[in-house]
Amino acid sequence: MPFRIGSFKPPRLRGIKKPEDRPNAHQRGYCSNAHKQWRMAVLIRDAYQCQDCGKICGGKRDAHADHILPIAEGGARYDLENGQCLCAACHARKTLRENRNADSQSDQGTQARSGF
Ligand SMILES: [Zn+2]
Repeated sequence: MPFRIGSFKPPRLRGIKKPEDRPNAHQRGYCSNAHKQWRMAVLIRDAYQCQDCGKICGGKRDAHADHILPIAEGGARYDLENGQCLCAACHARKTLRENRNADSQSDQGTQARSGF
């Protein structure tokens, strides 16, 4: 009897906001010349090497310029010192971790306000 492999469905990732909750890349300023210049300066300074896992990023899509301190938490948008090169996988993990921390902090704030 032939063995059938079921289709893979990735688990829903907690902490990722729905796309409709989030402004698009243009609205977040990622299409501006200032951002493009900052991104290139960060990637060239780090020689396209992921600062987390050490992988050399092969292509434009794999090399991400990440804000070490997120802009939402007061990080400087175009400061080279607040930028690092991350591969796509490490950047996704970091963003997920940050979103989870933000969610847990907002939950704590809600609990503190409601007296729990
Ligand atoms: Zn990496």
